[in-house]
Amino acid sequence: MSVAVLRWLWTWVAPLVLPWVLLVAVVAWPPAAPIGRRAIPQEARRADRCTWACHNHRCSHRPALPAVITGDRYLFGATIRGLYALGALFSRDRFRGYGIANIVVFCLAWPALMYALWVSVWRQRWRIVWLEAQLEASRGGR
Ligand SMILES: [Zn+2]
Repeated sequence: MSVAVLRWLWTWVAPLVLPWVLLVAVVAWPPAAPIGRRAIPQEARRADRCTWACHNHRCSHRPALPAVITGDRYLFGATIRGLYALGALFSRDRFRGYGIANIVVFCLAWPALMYALWVSVWRQRWRIVWLEAQLEASRGGR
């Protein structure tokens, strides 16, 4: 397999395939986790760490991150409010719209942005390598 094919696979295919391979590996690794859920899990509250009870009923644990990131008034709260606002564009049902907004942002828009950045960075990298080789050749390089 030529270097050009390997570069093409690395630049265009790897970011589309590897995350799914990792996802399946993590989900299938014992104890296996469900891929699709039909309802929010119900779990007992634990003193030593957050569980779904924190998600469902309110967290009483001391946050590991500062309030500016985790607080309802700051980044976390603004993100949730933004997702509800975006969801209003998709559905009149507040919770359905919120769910759709989550999928649009975190499953489509964000991965698409990361993919575009990945491809852009590697294409620039290959271009720089090629230009350096051209420059070296023009100098009568080795
Ligand atoms: Zn908690």
